[in-house]
Amino acid sequence: MKITNIFNRKKKDNPIHSLPFLQELVTITKNGYTDKAVMLLETKGKSNNPVSIPYTSDAIKTDFEAVRQCMVSENLDDNELAALLAIAMMKKHPKSISQLLLDNGYSSPSLERIMYLGTYTSTLRSLAEFASIGVKKYKISSCGDSKVCAKCAKHTGKKHFVDKAVIGKTAPPFCEKCRCIIIADF
Ligand SMILES: [Zn+2]
Repeated sequence: MKITNIFNRKKKDNPIHSLPFLQELVTITKNGYTDKAVMLLETKGKSNNPVSIPYTSDAIKTDFEAVRQCMVSENLDDNELAALLAIAMMKKHPKSISQLLLDNGYSSPSLERIMYLGTYTSTLRSLAEFASIGVKKYKISSCGDSKVCAKCAKHTGKKHFVDKAVIGKTAPPFCEKCRCIIIADF
């Protein structure tokens, strides 16, 4: 009994687990500690993550790299990074994260901004996946409803080379409210 107590306490005191989950994830991401991100998501992430499919270490690494790229190119502040991590790595719905952000000491960016960063990161993730399985081209697909703006409509159905993709020009997001995705073109 005593040994168990000591073990539990030790586990809690481990610096990796001393911060709230999302704060820890933000710190790890800013520092680029890929292995720590994998460890955190594989262990503690399970109870925080509602995804039904197993979150493999390869998938975690791909997501982590995509988030890091987005963080650098979009020059994200901590609030934006926390929001992006909540949707891209904790797989939360963008509309459901404001309380989580508040609980972790962050203020919530606008939903529009969160969606934009989510689309940005999805594109990076898809491009990395396509490259890793040898897919050379991708096709742009808008969600196809009446809300698609003229900018995005212009890109719909266009095909581009994976290794020449430029976000904002040949890959989504194309606008601030972009919900376009890219699909593999075989
Ligand atoms: Zn779009």
